[in-house]
Amino acid sequence: MSQLTRRAALAAPLALATPALAQAYPTRPITMIVPFAAGGPTDTVARLIAQEMGRDMGGSVVVENVGGAGGTLGAQRVATARPDGYTILCHHIGMGVIPSLYRRLSYDAVNGFEPIGMITEVPMTIVGKRDLPAQNLAELVALVRQRREGLNMANAGIGAASHLCGLLFQSALGVPLTTVPYRGTGPAMNDLVGGTIDLMCDQTTNTTEQIRAGTIRGYAVTTTTRVSSLPELPTAAEAGMPGFAVSVWHGLYAPRGTPAEIVTRLSTSLQKALAVPALVQRFNDLGTAPVTAEQATPAYHRQFWTADIARWRPVIQAASAYAD
Ligand code: ASP
Repeated sequence: MSQLTRRAALAAPLALATPALAQAYPTRPITMIVPFAAGGPTDTVARLIAQEMGRDMGGSVVVENVGGAGGTLGAQRVATARPDGYTILCHHIGMGVIPSLYRRLSYDAVNGFEPIGMITEVPMTIVGKRDLPAQNLAELVALVRQRREGLNMANAGIGAASHLCGLLFQSALGVPLTTVPYRGTGPAMNDLVGGTIDLMCDQTTNTTEQIRAGTIRGYAVTTTTRVSSLPELPTAAEAGMPGFAVSVWHGLYAPRGTPAEIVTRLSTSLQKALAVPALVQRFNDLGTAPVTAEQATPAYHRQFWTADIARWRPVIQAASAYAD
């Protein structure tokens, strides 16, 4: 019996004593908003946990993609939804960046949410279209320096992980590229495979299978160690870009004012989902792993998120990298 399963077994008698509100929840499908297009990395993570959470809660958790504006449209939808537990948000590192990046938003990007729990942290990869002449990162750097704006780089809008990683890439090289925004890197990947996009920085949850199949080129992984699902892919540091490190954390949120018992119910369900062996295996295949049960709690998530907002604020201020 795993530690989590043991904890769940011990908690069972307590569940019988939970307040009536939580016992009656959920009585209808829960909508999980993904603030990016279908088929991308956030969508992949969301669908995997939604399926397991639905199973656990005896109902369905339906994923709805509300892409656009770097993830702010979907976040707004949840911040302004009824705080009844039937609309929740699956979002990533953008939640730490957007409060400083966007000076004008029609929702409260910090106080508009109740954190439910963290989900996973995903490495990013620097990838290019298959017929790009560069065979490795050193050759790519040379090509970028030579072709500059003649090369384009896709991202999922300002505040998306692909945007942040792309900015780091361009500033490490001191070269601006032509950026092409999408509603998510799912559709951007189609164009990278099709060859109308040259470059992208994206999460392993979206790039692993394409790199393995050879439909795109993988140049480097942006973590300090290699990922086991792509053992041939060097880290950016190994391939000649020391200090280039970025990974993407994900979390679940409810609208502010959602009753604590419901947030706890969702968090418990998330923790159970993250312990399901098939989900753990799928995450591993895509270069990631679930967070611990403790990290999938509202308290841990709130503390991590608050620290991440504080981490990004001076970086964005120093770069004057505002979205408006
Ligand atoms: N996570 C986004 C998506 O799912 C991509 C990004 O943040 O760059 O499309």
